[in-house]
Amino acid sequence: MSQLSHEQEFNPRLAAEIRFDTAAEKLHLDAGMRKVLRTPALEVTVNIPVLLDDGRLEVFTGYRVQHSVARGPGKGGIRYAPDVNLDEVRALASWMTWKCSVVNIPFGGAKGGVICDPSMMSDGELERLTRRYAAQIIDFIGPERDVPAPDVNTNERTMAWIMDTYSMHVGRATTAVVTGKPMELGGSLGRREATGRGCMMVTLQALKKFGLAPENTRVVIQGFGNVGGMAAQLMAAKGFKVVGLVEYDGAVFNPHGLNIEALMKHRRATGSINEFPEAEAVDKSEALFLDCDVLLPAATENVITSENAAKLRCKILCEGANGPTTAGADPILVDKNIFVIPDILANAGGVTVSYFEWVQDRQGFFWNEDLVNSRLEEVMVGSFNAVDAYAGKHGVDNRTAAYMLALDRVATAVKLRGIYA
Ligand code: GLU
Repeated sequence: MSQLSHEQEFNPRLAAEIRFDTAAEKLHLDAGMRKVLRTPALEVTVNIPVLLDDGRLEVFTGYRVQHSVARGPGKGGIRYAPDVNLDEVRALASWMTWKCSVVNIPFGGAKGGVICDPSMMSDGELERLTRRYAAQIIDFIGPERDVPAPDVNTNERTMAWIMDTYSMHVGRATTAVVTGKPMELGGSLGRREATGRGCMMVTLQALKKFGLAPENTRVVIQGFGNVGGMAAQLMAAKGFKVVGLVEYDGAVFNPHGLNIEALMKHRRATGSINEFPEAEAVDKSEALFLDCDVLLPAATENVITSENAAKLRCKILCEGANGPTTAGADPILVDKNIFVIPDILANAGGVTVSYFEWVQDRQGFFWNEDLVNSRLEEVMVGSFNAVDAYAGKHGVDNRTAAYMLALDRVATAVKLRGIYA
């Protein structure tokens, strides 16, 4: 992969295409099917006027990309960030297709994004932006069409605004139009914890391959938000030693295991994980390369690259974020014999409980948390085992196996449906 320029390596769409091509090649998919599977079904760009609190008008640009709707409605989050761009949204939408397919839930893949800096916006500005964005993509979303969810910098409150905007437009309360909603509006128990819980569930399966018990497993986590923070809490409660926590503004380390509840309290009080008294500070750019058993990147894309992958000292890489590893790093991880649980499997717990939420909304009948978690476990463990067995059978690495399994299912759906003309 050394032929990729730095810019190319960091383009998530290219990363997605490289993984796609490797799997498509191994599956001997014909050229026409490859074209269908690699091309997004729909891309919408909207320019969103928003009245700011100071009376000025600003125009924000947003996207919604439906990569595939072959296996069911589009499904995927909406992110708000200054560096959102169409190529990134396309890549993320395609990853949703493969993710839903790997865990075999009846959705296609979609993603949305708005270029904005939510940290600089008031609640009122965010609400107006969200409602106007929702109104401008309203013809393309819906319970049977495309079902958004939270992603980077969006949350339950954002979903409540979208649910309300959609419901007002169609003239009836439509809870199933989004997932990741507040409980009071048809949200599901366990949805908030689901991505982190799913990461833990697949890591527990991977540990068996190494004969490791959670008590003897040292974990380094990057990101202390919805995914990383939740994974840290749940893993610590299960007995794992979460020895390192890496954030955008610093990193902390304790070889005996961090007290995650205390670290959360410290962050709530001070706004940062830095200067946590029960840990030593480490350089955040070096923290990913600490000696550990499990590395769980749960923050952003492009963290593990062709330049730094050789420095990793973990046995298992559990990709909690979407796209934390560039395609350029893939062969290095294979050479180093690192057991990779690829993002489209590792972080699929979130969308799996989104599926459960959508099912509950449509039935109007809600499950208790134990049922949600046990069904999640069934999906995550079953999918982990399917990918692991596939990798063994076909002699490929885990990521390629996950992509092959996913592509094959979507290609079969496309074939069975035929091309409507
Ligand atoms: N944003 C999450 C993801 O990337 C969840 C998507 C969903 O629940 O639809 O998987």
